[in-house]
Amino acid sequence: MSTPPKPAGPFTVPPLPYAYEALEPSIDAETMHLHHDKHHAAYVAKLNEAVAKEPSLAAWINVEDLLKNLSMVPESVRASVRNNGGGHANHSLFWQTLSPKSTGMPTGDLMKAIDSDLGGFNKFKEDAVKAGLGLFGSGWVWLVVDSSKKLALLTTPNQDSPLSNGKYPLFGLDVWEHAYYLKYHNVRADYLKAVWSIVNWDFISKRYASSL
Ligand code: MN
Repeated sequence: MSTPPKPAGPFTVPPLPYAYEALEPSIDAETMHLHHDKHHAAYVAKLNEAVAKEPSLAAWINVEDLLKNLSMVPESVRASVRNNGGGHANHSLFWQTLSPKSTGMPTGDLMKAIDSDLGGFNKFKEDAVKAGLGLFGSGWVWLVVDSSKKLALLTTPNQDSPLSNGKYPLFGLDVWEHAYYLKYHNVRADYLKAVWSIVNWDFISKRYASSL
């Protein structure tokens, strides 16, 4: 008996915007290979399988739209779209928000908003690390724009996207063990400290500007 071919789309894994080893030493090349080529690819494959089961979803080619409107997704595949669509969207954003050429801190309007809404950049970083350490199990720490256009720091469990709760994600810290375990083992705190030197604040600042 042959297995049916896996659906080829509509969703695809975007290529990394830098080399696998580009984020070393903060994130090692082997972790990047597994994280992007295996974990992210698995979310995409399962998302494609889910939407292939529901012809009504054929027109929904934008994963963000699916996540913003989960209640409109047929119940038979809703959990899969939430988990795997979230995994696809979260990782697609994650790769773009990292860079080997980090400026170290935001500038301009984003920096001003972090000062006024989150008590300053250092406090934001401390609070984000604390949130990551306090997150039980797997999930994400997010810098988001909320519905009143204020910045907020929040966590989501599993692969839940802030988009499903009316928030616009600017930057997410992946605190699943697959994001750091090969290099940092059980010491999540060291990963959460090391990641700040590879954050692409130029990208995040532009994303913030486009969200207002
Ligand atoms: Mn991940």
